[in-house]
Amino acid sequence: IPLRVQPDRVVPTVCPYCGVGCRVDLYVKDARIYRVMAREEPPNHGALCVKGRFGLGFLHHPDRLKTPLIRRRKGAELEPVSWDEALDFAAARLARIADASGPDALFFVSSAKASNEENYLMQKLARAAVGTHNVDHCARLCHSSSTAALSRSLGSAAMSNTLEEIGLSDVILVTGSNTTETHPVVGAMIKKAARNGAFLIVADPRRIGLAEAAHLWLRLRPGSDAVLFGAMARYLVESGRFDRAFVERRTEGFDAWWESVRDYTLEFAEGVTGVPAARIREAAERYAGARAAAIYWAMGITQHSHGTDNAQALINLALIAGQLGKPGAGLNPLRGQNNVQGAGDMGALPNVYPGYQPAADRQVQKRWKALWHTPQPETPGRTMTEAFESIGAKDGVRGVYLMGEDPITSEPYQDHVRAALEKLDLLIVQDILKNETFPYADVVLPAASFAEKQGTFTNTDRRVQRIRPVFEPPGEARPDWWITAQLGRRLAARTGRGWTEGWNYAGPEAVWEEIRLALPRMFGGIDYARLEREPLRWPCPHERSPGVSVLFTDRFYTPSGKARLLPAVWRPPAERPGGDYPLVLSTGRVLYHWHGGTLSRRSDLERAYPKMKVEVHPADAERYGISDGEPVWVVSRRGRIQATAWVTDRTPEGVVFAPFHFAEQPANRLTLDAYDPTSKIPEYKFAAVRLEPAGHE
Ligand code: SF4
Repeated sequence: IPLRVQPDRVVPTVCPYCGVGCRVDLYVKDARIYRVMAREEPPNHGALCVKGRFGLGFLHHPDRLKTPLIRRRKGAELEPVSWDEALDFAAARLARIADASGPDALFFVSSAKASNEENYLMQKLARAAVGTHNVDHCARLCHSSSTAALSRSLGSAAMSNTLEEIGLSDVILVTGSNTTETHPVVGAMIKKAARNGAFLIVADPRRIGLAEAAHLWLRLRPGSDAVLFGAMARYLVESGRFDRAFVERRTEGFDAWWESVRDYTLEFAEGVTGVPAARIREAAERYAGARAAAIYWAMGITQHSHGTDNAQALINLALIAGQLGKPGAGLNPLRGQNNVQGAGDMGALPNVYPGYQPAADRQVQKRWKALWHTPQPETPGRTMTEAFESIGAKDGVRGVYLMGEDPITSEPYQDHVRAALEKLDLLIVQDILKNETFPYADVVLPAASFAEKQGTFTNTDRRVQRIRPVFEPPGEARPDWWITAQLGRRLAARTGRGWTEGWNYAGPEAVWEEIRLALPRMFGGIDYARLEREPLRWPCPHERSPGVSVLFTDRFYTPSGKARLLPAVWRPPAERPGGDYPLVLSTGRVLYHWHGGTLSRRSDLERAYPKMKVEVHPADAERYGISDGEPVWVVSRRGRIQATAWVTDRTPEGVVFAPFHFAEQPANRLTLDAYDPTSKIPEYKFAAVRLEPAGHE
């Protein structure tokens, strides 16, 4: 459609890709979106990246799911049925497994792509209609390490400050985040701040876009993060450059923490990280000496078998330097999916209810029992990684309900995941598009996209924003909230957990009102009418509150009100390079694609980046006979994939970088199922591999 045509209408909403939550106007003609424009409002102030602007083709793709499908028995074909039949079938099969093996034999995967209201209903389905805390979502695979460390140290797992404050920082430390490609609008904000005088420190093994813009680039070895940040904090204390008053007044646990970093001298850190001691010292002095210094991080920190220690080391550094509780400072995990913050806030996690209320706490259970009129499960549930590991075992998970998740592409060690899915008695796939997991489904429930429903998303800096329908869902697809509520009513009746009325919602606004009622201190002041005028940031406890930007100005959200310094001990990765597998594989994202590629590869973005390229350092290319642009095998102990070699010094010598967006060349065939013991996050950032020239086979 030519750009100059008059639109039928222009719908203000939110980009469905990353956690920045850019606000957009969608221009619609003849029930198709032909133009996406950025709104001149926070958080993006008129800026958009290629994904937001050109990545919405998936909405009209032929692979959209349009009809409910069921597989009546294993080995039979999926067949189209009515909604009533699909929902009755799904509810009966879920109830049968719960009856036979107990509620914990079921597992519910919620979605950071779905709205707050839909995430709330998914965890309510698990807890109220079935009676299990077995619910999780994709944050398990991205920021669960940050969530674990931030929750126990500060009592809150969200960004402490806001994107609007980037311009207020005089030092910005970015680590484990290829920000210009994964959160491009934030990357542009950081570059602008650096041009305007902020001192930019980047700690990353790869020569990413921000490394080029940095005043100080610390090219640390993969997996050495906890030593780098532990050494910086230790140096600050030893040299007397730390914020003594802040540490004494607002933290606890100093002695145990100090013991954990006692050996992390600058020289020791240089040996482990490969970063010269003088650069580590300069980074520490710049960071602590700033009036306001902010830390931003993402999966380069978290996706390790010691990811929680990595995140904890950053938290400790910020506490030692007193860089919390003031504008322009803070600890700021950049969240990946558009509503991953909201999915956590809504309790789509096995250990917490909505509002991060502990699932194991009897008083908390009593409150939710009163709200939902049903007894509550007593012990926390399984994480997603534990659930998939348990399939096939005695007392393991037998039925899985997936909302907007494609575990075959997203979980590590893909061959294991396929084998596990084949052992399930029941797999429900609720999605907008066919994905790699689709062939394993016993029930397929076609869902509406972000552009076909009402609701709210919460972006990475806690901003709750309205989404609005642009057109009707295709075929018989329905919004996730409607599907889950329909299943909830049926399941509540079948499991005998009563209160079927608790599933009668007139629409997403009614669900939001229940959330406000349950969590007044977070959301009491946020209603749809206010959101119609402006987004609001939580906590927003009453209707006159503008929402809070800077957290922890006077107390932390821990029982004592003080932040906890906790030991963060460096441990080497689970698998070391050597022998037949001399190189390190690190996986991640590229500018043009998104996660498993389900959305971005069904849009115009596919033309910009149609095939997988792996980054190979020139010295490694020469050593293994690899040529730029030629096919290459990447081989690990778990499998092999073919890709195109990109010979570049973006990646350091000894490290191969592979994006994970390509289902036909799945990087997760290579990764291993080693997990962080606390967060259960897989080690996507470190696996031993070798390279072999593939010629033109
Ligand atoms: Fe969308 Fe994120 Fe790009 Fe903004 S930065 S347009 S939210 S993908």
